[in-house]
Amino acid sequence: MYICHVTTEFSPFAKAGGLADVLEGLCFQQMRDGHTVEIILPKYDIIDMTIFDSVEIYSQHLWSHENEKKIHNVVYKVIYKGLVIFLIDPDHEHYYFSKGCIYGSAIDANRFVYFSRACVDFIQHEKKTPHILHLHDWPTAAILPIMHYLTPTFFHQTCSVYTIHNLAHQGIMNPSILTHTGINIKKFFTPHCMQDTITTSLINLKKGAINLSDAITTVSESYAEEILTPKMGYQLAKDLNKNIDKISGILNGIDLQTWDPSTDPLIFENYPSNSTHLEKVKKAKNINKQKVLEKTSLDPNAEGPLVITIARLAEQKGPEYIIEAIKVTLEKKGQFILLGSFCDSEIEHTFNQIVEKYKGNKHVFFSFNFDNDFSHQLYSAADIIFIPSKFEPCGLVQLIAMTYGTIPIAAETGGLKDTVIDASCEKGNGFLFQTNALTNVEEVLETAFYTYHCKKGLWDTLICNGLNEQFGWKKPASKYQALYLNALEKKKIDINQTSM
Ligand code: ADP
Repeated sequence: MYICHVTTEFSPFAKAGGLADVLEGLCFQQMRDGHTVEIILPKYDIIDMTIFDSVEIYSQHLWSHENEKKIHNVVYKVIYKGLVIFLIDPDHEHYYFSKGCIYGSAIDANRFVYFSRACVDFIQHEKKTPHILHLHDWPTAAILPIMHYLTPTFFHQTCSVYTIHNLAHQGIMNPSILTHTGINIKKFFTPHCMQDTITTSLINLKKGAINLSDAITTVSESYAEEILTPKMGYQLAKDLNKNIDKISGILNGIDLQTWDPSTDPLIFENYPSNSTHLEKVKKAKNINKQKVLEKTSLDPNAEGPLVITIARLAEQKGPEYIIEAIKVTLEKKGQFILLGSFCDSEIEHTFNQIVEKYKGNKHVFFSFNFDNDFSHQLYSAADIIFIPSKFEPCGLVQLIAMTYGTIPIAAETGGLKDTVIDASCEKGNGFLFQTNALTNVEEVLETAFYTYHCKKGLWDTLICNGLNEQFGWKKPASKYQALYLNALEKKKIDINQTSM
């Protein structure tokens, strides 16, 4: 099958969060499964081009449009570990992808809608006819109306698959931004297609993609059910229910070549991700813990476990629960390391106050960066990872943590609920709690710390059960393949009859 992914993230060279990991893991697995896979991505200035096996200019003259102006783009073809990736580099007066970040510029809506138009021009110009055009989240959602308008025949031989990685981000914006791509949006700017349900003067790109795509996926089975409810589906629950036959939940995996403690070059001491070598795992994790404590100047002789949180510090990730967990962990003589990045100035201000509060404390360390190397070291060193998300479409941190022998304490929601099994159950691999009261933090940490100190057999079993889980991409990729085939069959597209 010929599969083309359009995305705004790809790990490790364009990573802001889990979307990047998903693209990396899924695309490599699809390539291993024998599919022809291509990826289209913006050429951000933050991409280190030396990471690629080869770099060539694929097209010197890709012309696209914005606001009746012709915009010139260069398209690079790079090979990354065998995968073909096209990077679109617009020669734009606002330097669209030279902002030093993936998201967070004031003109994100303009730049990603422009990118969507440029992708359509690229696909058309190169006469690409993938069987599957797989789009990811709001930044690439505008491709659907643009294609429906500019190249309606394209859809006769291609199925569009749209993955909702997080329903909270919808791409709600002024309709003129989409009009600037040169399309007449009259047909799309309706309550049944992409008019925002709450602010009717705006368009909602995610709503449009839900209504225009051939198939919709989201990243865990529980989240696929949750988004159908008014509480978790925001204003899109109605559209999602209308399209219920198109929706599937496929749990994400993790790339087991990147996330393998036995070969991970970023950690201090390698060890097998295998319960039959539990003693080796524990010994190596202890060495890694000492190295991390040394690196962060924390007390090497604490009585309690090392608890970590690694997250984008957004409202979704439960910042007040993280702050509570730091307090409780320190009271219980454990240690806490928080690796977090900010996208919200209020939350940043709150955490700056917390840093002040704990200044000089040798049992807590804060790193407010996006630091991939340090994240690997933390997974390999910690006893517990604390994940208090208020909602979580899938969550990758718990999957990585379990692969590294670190026990998750997670909120009982979405993909966390699908992957973390409470210690009180058979095959338990962690602890679950509800994020409906701050007092639940003390309760769940109390249980976990008690298990750590006094029920060592159970603690080891939890580690082993986590290590025994297989969170690779083999299974999810085969589910995507079945979904693609089903969508193609519904549209009566015979992949043996269509050219690549
Ligand atoms: P989300 O996609 O909502 O941010 P996920 O749990 O799905 O959350 O994925 C988060 C990914 O980003 C994981 O690979 C995690 O290790 C990584 N990550 C999150 N915050 C940081 C950070 N501050 N530094 C390095 N890696 C981070």
